[in-house]
Amino acid sequence: MITSWQDEMRHAITKAEALSEIISKEIPTNKYKIFIPASLMARILKEGVDSSLGKQFIPSENENLPEGLWDPIGDQICSPMSQLVHRYPSRALYLSTSVCPVSCRFCFRKNELESPMDLFKTNKDQVLNYVKDHPEIMEIIFSGGDPLSLSDEKLFNEGLSFLSVEHVQYLRFHTRMPIIIPQRIDQNFLMTFEKLTLEGSRWGKKIIFVIHTNHASEWDATVIEAVEKLKKLNVIILAQTVLLKEINDTVAGLKNLITLLDRLKIRSYYLHHPDRVRGGMHFYVDLEKGRRIYSQLRQELPGWMLPTYIIDIPEGKGKIPAFNAEDFSFSGTLVDHTGQKWKY
Ligand SMILES: *Cc1c(COP(=O)(O)O)cnc(C)c1O
Ligand code: SF4
Repeated sequence: MITSWQDEMRHAITKAEALSEIISKEIPTNKYKIFIPASLMARILKEGVDSSLGKQFIPSENENLPEGLWDPIGDQICSPMSQLVHRYPSRALYLSTSVCPVSCRFCFRKNELESPMDLFKTNKDQVLNYVKDHPEIMEIIFSGGDPLSLSDEKLFNEGLSFLSVEHVQYLRFHTRMPIIIPQRIDQNFLMTFEKLTLEGSRWGKKIIFVIHTNHASEWDATVIEAVEKLKKLNVIILAQTVLLKEINDTVAGLKNLITLLDRLKIRSYYLHHPDRVRGGMHFYVDLEKGRRIYSQLRQELPGWMLPTYIIDIPEGKGKIPAFNAEDFSFSGTLVDHTGQKWKY
């Protein structure tokens, strides 16, 4: 009997033979690990192994393709020390853990996570000192791995230690946990974050959750219930999505997801262009195709509902809007969603 989120983690499917038996299909060998919690597996079987839900987590032989980059967004380049990526002066990314509640086949950190290297070496005290020494840091972003793989006690202690730094105004948690193991949002978690938000609000500080979600079919009743609980906390809840080939690379699919998020009162924050990651190139979408989809979304959704379509460039210099001007000097024409050019 699986009764807690820790049990879900302990009893996840991790062996190719076991997975192969469950889905009655051969599992191609590749070097990336398999990790699928049982309750997620049940949802995948309901949707189908080749559905938008299934393809995100079932291994594929395409993961052996040699194309793509090991570190596609240049994390190493902007890392002053292990566990920290400091790319934008105002906010620093804290690699709190290398553990995830699932193994996403498209993951942009799949190579780094496969051989947890220096980037993930425990370094909490030095990170805290670095943050204290950099008054320009307004926000600490818990990333990983999935920060909600940490125990409640750790989340509280680490969260509070950052919140206690005077210039840190925001704590942000990027997570896929409410989607993958909704039981994670249990009574103890809610109490922990009630305490943490209370501590934060005494100093006028805010806590933000960014839920990673790629398709409407991820949102079954258990997920919605977990997120409803999260919403009762005094936190801001956002969502972000990666554009993925044959998973969500259609106007209808994205519109479906974004309007569902809106009904749940969750703002869709970023639509990420896929990274050119080694082992995940079969999910890659051409920039031209992405731009066509995004400009059509602008036709079909209210402007305030649209996420920002963004690219992380490989050189580690960070995010650039995927629909940006290609130079500061103006060419003299603008293009609409049909491709027609307009003089301006
Ligand atoms: C994406 C990212 C952030 C956060 O950027 P926002 O635009 O504030 O969401 C911060 N640091 C690093 C290293 C990142 O990759
Ligand atoms: S949860 Fe995020 S970090 Fe973990 S495998 Fe999935 S995409 Fe990668």
